Amino acid sequence: CGIVGCVGRDGDAKEVLLSGLSQLEYRGYDSAGIAVTGVGGPLDVAKREGELQALKDAVEDRSFPGGTGIGHTRWSTHGPPATRNAHPHTDETGRVAVVHNGIIENYAALRDELTEAGVPLTSDTDTEVVPHLFARYLTEGDDPEAAFRRTVSRLEGSYAIAAVVAGEDAVFAARRHSPLVLGVGADENYLASDVTALVEHTREVVYIEDDQFAVLRPSGWRVTDATGERVDPEVRTVDWTA
Ligand code: GLU
Repeated sequence: CGIVGCVGRDGDAKEVLLSGLSQLEYRGYDSAGIAVTGVGGPLDVAKREGELQALKDAVEDRSFPGGTGIGHTRWSTHGPPATRNAHPHTDETGRVAVVHNGIIENYAALRDELTEAGVPLTSDTDTEVVPHLFARYLTEGDDPEAAFRRTVSRLEGSYAIAAVVAGEDAVFAARRHSPLVLGVGADENYLASDVTALVEHTREVVYIEDDQFAVLRPSGWRVTDATGERVDPEVRTVDWTA
């Protein structure tokens, strides 16, 4: 239902993600979660069924030392509302985390492919195939951006997707038929499904279009098309009176 992301924060990604998710609460949701990492750091994930407050309570006394992360409010389409079905979804080694809005139409075939390869699936969602494919392509030697593009090329359906890799100061994103907006900051960049989650940090935004990819790093951001060619999108200034 809702996606947020940030890179380059000074150790407070947890707070930034929770605050962004609060801005998206009006859209409705049945569960919520965050994943946080940073250079050389681990990947920390927390998720809870129910109110965003349940997630906030669960992470209140837990330190998430990274400045990079993704967050999600879920409105379930595949699999009932439950903590195991909440996003972010991870691979079995906890190396990658993924949030997704929309529906992966070919998830059943992808689940079968992964199950046959011995990959343990732990949720009922269409989304969970995404982190497993991503992790497999990393294991095969792809760099994170290549592995992410290869993963998304396997998907049919509608999606706004954001992903992080343990120890990497980057957020990888893609969209098709689900909104995704990039927020441009100084030495920090943001991502959200809705501009309302960005305006507390920046008024400079880039609307990502169908079949485009984005990579956000603290030092900058890049949008590419389906073939990998760099595109030069318009940076718009949002006129917003809170
Ligand atoms: N289809 C996914 C799920 O059921 C994503 C739903 C959403 O857009 O929140 O988990």
